[in-house]
Amino acid sequence: MTGLSDSFQRPVNYLRISVTDRCNLRCIYCMPSDGVSLLSHQDILTYEEIYTVASAAAELGINKVRFTGGEPLVRPELPKLVRMLAQIDAINDISLTTNGLLLGRYAAELKQAGLQRVNVSLDTLKQDKFEFITRHSNSLSDVLKGIETARSVGLNPVKINVVVIAGVNDDELVDFANKTIDEGWHVRFIELMLPVGVSATSAQLVSVNDMRKRIKPLGELEPCLPSVGNGPARYFRFPHARGTIGFITPVSEHFCFCCNRLRLTSDGKLRPCLLAENEIDLRQPLRSGISSEGLKQLIKETVAGKPLRHHLDEGYMPKDRPFSQVGG
Ligand code: SAM
Repeated sequence: MTGLSDSFQRPVNYLRISVTDRCNLRCIYCMPSDGVSLLSHQDILTYEEIYTVASAAAELGINKVRFTGGEPLVRPELPKLVRMLAQIDAINDISLTTNGLLLGRYAAELKQAGLQRVNVSLDTLKQDKFEFITRHSNSLSDVLKGIETARSVGLNPVKINVVVIAGVNDDELVDFANKTIDEGWHVRFIELMLPVGVSATSAQLVSVNDMRKRIKPLGELEPCLPSVGNGPARYFRFPHARGTIGFITPVSEHFCFCCNRLRLTSDGKLRPCLLAENEIDLRQPLRSGISSEGLKQLIKETVAGKPLRHHLDEGYMPKDRPFSQVGG
């Protein structure tokens, strides 16, 4: 194994795999209000095709994968795919990002299949706001139960991702921060990015400095290391808290200099960056019987196309796909 690195000498060892463009929620900052046109089933990579890509990527140096979507748990038999990828020797870190609605149902099976940990996206602890943000009348209590089940079956650390939106959920920063003290939650506050067509506006961006000011009454935050993973968040904890608080700042302070990711979309495009439109199609070559060497060449070309950084600060957002179709 030689290891992959891009043209800026950044090592690339992490593949995020979107298994579906479908979602059981319609979050205001993620999906356009008039919805998105959905891919047909034959456009979506099969589990065998995903396995082929992951195996080739692993031979090149990818050792970490995360399933995302859409909502990955709406795709039937996700544990089967987890089990398949867990059998690839070089892959030693398998995780999932989910909205948590179906997590209670699948957590034990996923753990047994080889999933190691899970991130749950949850932006509010209030049912009425949950319905407003997700544009759905699903029950917040299902998500909370999913979090508890995931923790109890050992999908740890369960990290809670909170996209902070001014005037919507910024009044709950203290409530989430308290969860790190009272219940040992690992909470990560994420700055809002603004894809084209969504109903949030730039006035709703809350900077990390503001977030820190809001939770200051709870105590002095002490810097700490993440318990697992070395992603883009900077971590802190309150004295005596079992849990941690992470801040992810794609807008105010980008972390592209340490980006180690590739993204596979559910329709088989390999993308070097969430926030750039260049992508390389793998589906057609896969379905035409491309060799493992050919596939590895396409993966290397994608890595070579990784841009130095995104340009959110100059207002640039990719227009080709909403986040629900790339896997945020
Ligand atoms: N359905 C899964 C979930 O909810 O976690 C996985 C897909 S979702 C697109 C992945 C993550 O992207 C979620 O944590 C979501 O909050 C985040 N996300 C989506 N749109 C975003 C935006 N405009 N700004 C910041 N984060 C965003």
